[in-house]
Amino acid sequence: MTTAKKTKKQIAPRVPMPNQPAEERARNFKEVALGYTKEMAMQEAARCLNCKKPKCVQGCPVQVPIADFIAEVAKGNIEKAYSVIKSTNSLPAICGRVCPQEIQCEGACILNAKDQPIAIGRLERYVADEYMYLDACDLISAKPECPFIDEEKKVACIGSGPSSLTVAGYLASRGCKVTIFEALHEVGGVLVYGIPEFRLPKEDVVAKEVGALKDLQVDFVTNYVGGKTFSIEDLKEQGYKAVFVGVGAGLPRFLNISGENLCGVFSANEYLTRVNLGRAYDFPNYDTPIIKGRKVTVYGGGNVAMDAARTAQRLGAETVHIVYRRTADAMPARLEELEHAVEEGIILEVLANPIEFKSDGSGNLASVTLQKMKMGEPDDSGRCRPLPIEGETYELETDLAVIAVGTRPNPVLLENEPDLKLNKWGYIEADQETNETSIPDVYAGGDIVTGAATVILAMGAGRKAAQEIARRFGIED
Ligand code: FAD
Repeated sequence: MTTAKKTKKQIAPRVPMPNQPAEERARNFKEVALGYTKEMAMQEAARCLNCKKPKCVQGCPVQVPIADFIAEVAKGNIEKAYSVIKSTNSLPAICGRVCPQEIQCEGACILNAKDQPIAIGRLERYVADEYMYLDACDLISAKPECPFIDEEKKVACIGSGPSSLTVAGYLASRGCKVTIFEALHEVGGVLVYGIPEFRLPKEDVVAKEVGALKDLQVDFVTNYVGGKTFSIEDLKEQGYKAVFVGVGAGLPRFLNISGENLCGVFSANEYLTRVNLGRAYDFPNYDTPIIKGRKVTVYGGGNVAMDAARTAQRLGAETVHIVYRRTADAMPARLEELEHAVEEGIILEVLANPIEFKSDGSGNLASVTLQKMKMGEPDDSGRCRPLPIEGETYELETDLAVIAVGTRPNPVLLENEPDLKLNKWGYIEADQETNETSIPDVYAGGDIVTGAATVILAMGAGRKAAQEIARRFGIED
């Protein structure tokens, strides 16, 4: 009798992402992560166990067939891998860069139990970057020719963030005529006005993904404000059979403390919009005014705070502190962004809460008073509450403060659409299965339904709405 011992597959270490060196990148706006080579991608893909029932797919809100595309990468079939990804994800070069993979696909990877998960995001980015130039019709519709666009199947999207771009990609590839109406002069939503160039290049990535939709005859109308220049009713009168509202949640929240109106205090939204959309980082080619700040403080612990802090560092600040009232491990930012920020010299001022901004006597910000905090017991949500330590405050010199403590829905469209039912927090109420709102054939998704969330969740909502719109048009999946 032979005693055959099962040998377990030895898993090689995860292939690291090459990055620009921290000291160098902290002073430029070029992309931080440089991307895998083909050899690196194949090596990383070979780590995949090819699970029969892959859990990673369940962790992906747009259900990319992850195991299938990774199997193609492992064989070196990168073009095939791209079309597998594109079958469910119209923006893979973006998702590969900004998705919080550690809590989604990679978080669900079975390798987490003993090892590091497969670098799914890095592989998705590599594949997308290699084949992004390919013909959109061929890839999105998985057919050799562009779909015939039926002008009768007319769909409007309000807002051009990832939720609307997903609706457009899904429906246009199935022959619908989609028009996206955007309030700003550039399309992409937070992808262009919020997330900085050094994390998500605008020309090389966002514009190319948007370009693929233009190839599918999606029309983009900019400088067009829903609720001001047009109403949902106007769109219906113009023959749009379905309307998707994806206007995001771009109204900033403030700290509501004394001195918040001093010169030098910005919302992260305004600060990042000036730098990204206004290209203030590219002075003198663009002359958008911006305060550069010598001693910068940023308030919050999410991706927005990381982006603001790293932007200020790149604009030449001497010091940048991120002020957060909990501990660093409770920060909601993507782990990679937090690690990159610290490598670049950003100082984490944790267990500290701002209570007053102080002036230099001429209306300019000079310092902030911080309250020392400690972590208390978990509350109903299971998260530990930060509590002030009585009498323990201190001053920090600062001439630029950027507030990144969350956003609210922008009322411009909502106030002018009284039939659109809102929930108690002021976000649009949408059916969980179809994303249809209280107005028939009007759908909503993304941050305007969930509150500030993620690119991939906005895309997942767009996909759900698009599937329902297609079903009502009688289009088979
Ligand atoms: P948005 O992207 O918010 O786009 C909405 C669009 O609608 C905007 O272009 C707006 O101008 C337009 N609009 C608004 N009102 C009107 C109107 N009345 N008429 C016409 N157009 C209108 N998520 C991640 O997954 N990973 C990250 O790393 C990440 N980093 C982020 C960094 C920053 C600085 C910010 C602000 C957010 C970040 N997020 C990140 C969150 C993510 O970007 C959002 O969850 C996502 O963009 C929401 O998509 P959306 O389609 O709902 O709307």
